[in-house]
Amino acid sequence: MADRKDIASCLDQLLRPEGFKDYGPNGLQVEGAREVRRIASGVTASLAFIDAALAAGADTLIVHHGLFWRGQDGRLTGWLAERVRRLMAANANLFAYHLPLDAHAELGNNAQLGLRLGLMADARFGDQDLGFIGPATAPLDALAARVQQQLGRAPLLLPGDGRALRRVAWCTGGAQGYFEAAIAAGADAFLTGEVSEPQQHLARETGVAFLACGHHATERFGAPAVAAQVAGRFGLEHAFIDLDNPA
Ligand SMILES: [Zn+2]
Repeated sequence: MADRKDIASCLDQLLRPEGFKDYGPNGLQVEGAREVRRIASGVTASLAFIDAALAAGADTLIVHHGLFWRGQDGRLTGWLAERVRRLMAANANLFAYHLPLDAHAELGNNAQLGLRLGLMADARFGDQDLGFIGPATAPLDALAARVQQQLGRAPLLLPGDGRALRRVAWCTGGAQGYFEAAIAAGADAFLTGEVSEPQQHLARETGVAFLACGHHATERFGAPAVAAQVAGRFGLEHAFIDLDNPA
């Protein structure tokens, strides 16, 4: 058993949210039980995830995508009310870390994805240094095959001009807007979760390859890595609950 406050300060020390300008509050988003016994981690605090975590007996949830985002008007109505109601009714804690969970050098989404793809960053790039870049370890078709093998889905591949890969850049989730910064940082290929219309033209016109590998699929590894670390430190049970999302 651990005190919620000790879990909170452990997470904050690990992830250093004060160093980021983020789209929502990092840390404890919904306050529940003071005594923490069982942690569930997941990508997004969706209703399905909350229900699955509570059904698994978790009293504390740790996610990458929390409930509150810039642009919301602050009302707890509709689907948001329902999510909060489930948590409050169960007296469960919800911790959410967004950009700090992408960025952590060993446990974050970027580092953990790189590990699975055989990529090691030797530099960072882009807004708030969230982008990772390092030496290529395989040709483009082998990299795409590795993505498919590790993430269980084929990436959408914009092949560029077919150049040999020397440097590969990556940033998990909806980081298609980092493509130009990746090109400027010297990438021969850039890998992220989502794609938008402009990236096809940029890939064609700059020759740099672009791989869209799934927002959820690329962000599955940070939350369980962090939660496992915290659970291990306090001797708590932890389970990662993955609810597939094709987007
Ligand atoms: Zn995300």
